[in-house]
Amino acid sequence: MHHFQYHSGVLHAEDVPLPNIAAAIGTPFYCYSSATLTRHYKVFTDALAGLDSLVCFSAKANGNLAVLRLLGDLGAGCDVVSGGELKRALAAGIPGEKIVFSGVGKTSEELTLALENSVGQINVESEPELNRLNGIATKLGKSAPVALRVNPDIHAATHDKIATGRREDKFGVAWEDAPRLYKAAHDMNGIDVRGIAVHIGSQITDLAPFEAAFSKVAGLVNKIRDTGIDIRTIDLGGGLGVSYKHDNATPPSPAEYGEVVKRTVGDLGCKVIFEPGRVIAANAGILVTKVIYVKPGETKEFVIVDAAMNDLIRPAMYGAHHDVLPISEENAGSPKTKMDIVGPVCESGDRFVRDASLAALKEEDLVVFMTAGAYGAVMSSTYNARPLIPEVLVHGESFAVIRKRPKVEDLWVLESLPDWMDD
Ligand SMILES: *Cc1c(COP(=O)(O)O)cnc(C)c1O
Repeated sequence: MHHFQYHSGVLHAEDVPLPNIAAAIGTPFYCYSSATLTRHYKVFTDALAGLDSLVCFSAKANGNLAVLRLLGDLGAGCDVVSGGELKRALAAGIPGEKIVFSGVGKTSEELTLALENSVGQINVESEPELNRLNGIATKLGKSAPVALRVNPDIHAATHDKIATGRREDKFGVAWEDAPRLYKAAHDMNGIDVRGIAVHIGSQITDLAPFEAAFSKVAGLVNKIRDTGIDIRTIDLGGGLGVSYKHDNATPPSPAEYGEVVKRTVGDLGCKVIFEPGRVIAANAGILVTKVIYVKPGETKEFVIVDAAMNDLIRPAMYGAHHDVLPISEENAGSPKTKMDIVGPVCESGDRFVRDASLAALKEEDLVVFMTAGAYGAVMSSTYNARPLIPEVLVHGESFAVIRKRPKVEDLWVLESLPDWMDD
């Protein structure tokens, strides 16, 4: 459920007509709905009723300060995967104790930053990282709150690039190694062993791999506890998928996911941490773009829009589908034309839609790519010297620009000519 609907034939974000935003700030832009973010967060937390839980929104899905603040005000913490995201979460007002720090390659500087800001949990992914963290914490006179991220060797049916829980993936410590590493961690002065963490991938639309992974985790918790080491937190990661096609079978609901969680780890007496990103943010955001040209081709039309792969890379990177909606509902009913919708970037992969039969579009028409609130703006770049595009947050009848469109000249402010070149 989201709040991007037609009213009187015009697509709105909540109560704001999208053409009004386009007229005010130009195109392209990302637009997020506060009501949808709020709703998704509440549906997710409602599904966990009865559990001692903490929902840490995954900042890498959408790290805008206003988005993090909105979720933080609802009680969310943050899952971060770099020092930059850690600073972002703190800047958004997320308290350190509600921040979980994940990632395979945390540097000494990042681990120090995490300890200085008293993050709630550091998910350690390797023995060398454990040793490094112990050394840093000891030097600082601190005890680092640690969960070991284990690799459960579970194959979730998702895109290869976002499956993370298989033996051959770089993430987590090997399952067989976990008991030995828990013992080592327990004996370290700079480490406070708190819990266990798993994250098996993203855009997972089947509950079976979650159930398999969480059951394995429950078994490991008991095994570690049998060795006299207490496990107090279980971090189940993120990964719940969303529907990118409005007419497609919907992925499992948070409620069904919550049932799996309760069934597998609910009676271990642990605090359960979640790191959802996509399921909270994806359908809460859209990308609004404008048609520059309609170019007739031999077999189909090329509709060239002013957004490109640098703004939304998911189609080029993962072959991902995003539903396309015209801003005017009238257009939606017009005769269908076979078309590709492409951006201006000089790569054939800069294509949002291939061989689709859609209502005809013409120059200046506004079109919307749906389900762009997660892994959209955060993955954008300035390729082809295209400045990052604005982000807008809608709240009822109001909207605010929550990231401005930079000046083109800002792209090279950090660049300079070496002194052996002529001015
Ligand atoms: C990416 C990531 C998440 C969020 O995944 P979603 O599929 O967006 O829910 C959570 N935890 C970790 C460790 C991640 O890397």
